[in-house]
Amino acid sequence: NADLSVQDPEIAAKIDDELGRQRDGLEMIASENHTAAAVMQAQGSVLTNKYAEGYPGKRYYGGCEHVDVIEQLAIDRVKALFGAEFANVQPHSGAQANASVMHALIKPGDTIMGLNLAHGGHLTHGMKINFSGKLYNVVPYQVREDTHTIDMAEVERLALETKPQLIVAGWSAYARQLDFAEFRRIADLVGAYLMVDMAHFAGLVAAGLHPSPVPHAHVVTSTTHKTLAGPRGGIILSNDADIAKKINSAVFPGQQGGPLEHVIAGKAVAFKIAASAEFKERQERVLAGSRILAERLVQPDVTAKGISVISGGTDVHLVLVDLRNCELNGQQAEDRLAAIDITVNRNAVPFDPRPPMVTSGLRIGTPALATRGFGEAAFREVADIIAEALIADADLSGLRHRVEALAKAHPLYPGL
Ligand code: PLP
Repeated sequence: NADLSVQDPEIAAKIDDELGRQRDGLEMIASENHTAAAVMQAQGSVLTNKYAEGYPGKRYYGGCEHVDVIEQLAIDRVKALFGAEFANVQPHSGAQANASVMHALIKPGDTIMGLNLAHGGHLTHGMKINFSGKLYNVVPYQVREDTHTIDMAEVERLALETKPQLIVAGWSAYARQLDFAEFRRIADLVGAYLMVDMAHFAGLVAAGLHPSPVPHAHVVTSTTHKTLAGPRGGIILSNDADIAKKINSAVFPGQQGGPLEHVIAGKAVAFKIAASAEFKERQERVLAGSRILAERLVQPDVTAKGISVISGGTDVHLVLVDLRNCELNGQQAEDRLAAIDITVNRNAVPFDPRPPMVTSGLRIGTPALATRGFGEAAFREVADIIAEALIADADLSGLRHRVEALAKAHPLYPGL
């Protein structure tokens, strides 16, 4: 029963180092967040020891009386949070949530439509060497070259032409809201299921700051660790009782064995937090921060260097920086921000001429900083720092000190 630092000092030291990295730098990877200490406490509990194949009240193992209550609380809370009649909280990840839905609703060889990976889609929406690309016939749709927004006329044309069984709406790198009603109209036109993957913007939906896909889609999937700020994991929601039954058996035993009840407890905690007024106020700062960043990155000092913002702005928690006309490529821009302790990821932009390992874009998100307490003034300072780092032959050490000051002023996990 030795403490981790005694049992395994190598691992303990690296966990400490990672806490230091998160505290001292600014985390701006759009898919990341700093989950609550209470969520981590639930995840680090004895629940990790428990096998609970099945669902609350219908388990294949004994001793499930406590995990049953925990999982049912998670289910009830997430249903209330998103106004859904059915929820499965067992998917180990967003990818497994998506795999389970496809497993439930369509057959190998069927046709799926999803946003092209190079235009902001996710691997599980039909990338060639992902299960989705291997098992299904994939018809990708993309964004318009002039607006960088999804071309709904093309979605309709492709759907009529290829008659997909499933249409996926959702994204990993896109800065605008989707028209869920229009997606559903097109799905109905061709008899397809509509699956909305709200992994990125679920926290905004929970806070009522982004339209909800739940009334429109046959099924909604999400991760729980991005804007939603919970533990790493997935969920599936639906309002259709027949689909719900199929989803439950596709998750277990279709895709998974024992559920991770320690993670499900963390999800339950996160759903409770996400229903609070504090969470809504935090998501308002997420949106304010990304708007401030987008506005800063279209100022003349930045555009003079050939830098711009994909789609001209943002409605969500991230900004896609367009470096196609800039000498700096995505890799170099990511490295330059890493040198001043701002973590972002390079990202292909639509119609990117550079190779995927280099790219001509950056994806920059505000959720983790909002969780640290950043408000508009702090986001303005971050936006200035990023702009100066990208345009400059700037004094990087001066910028690094400004990052350090912001990090110190917004302490992370003070109790740990
Ligand atoms: N769906 C979308 C839209 C995502 O952006 C991601 C992750 O980035 C996933 C699904 C997959 O989630 P996970 O990494 O938990 O498998």
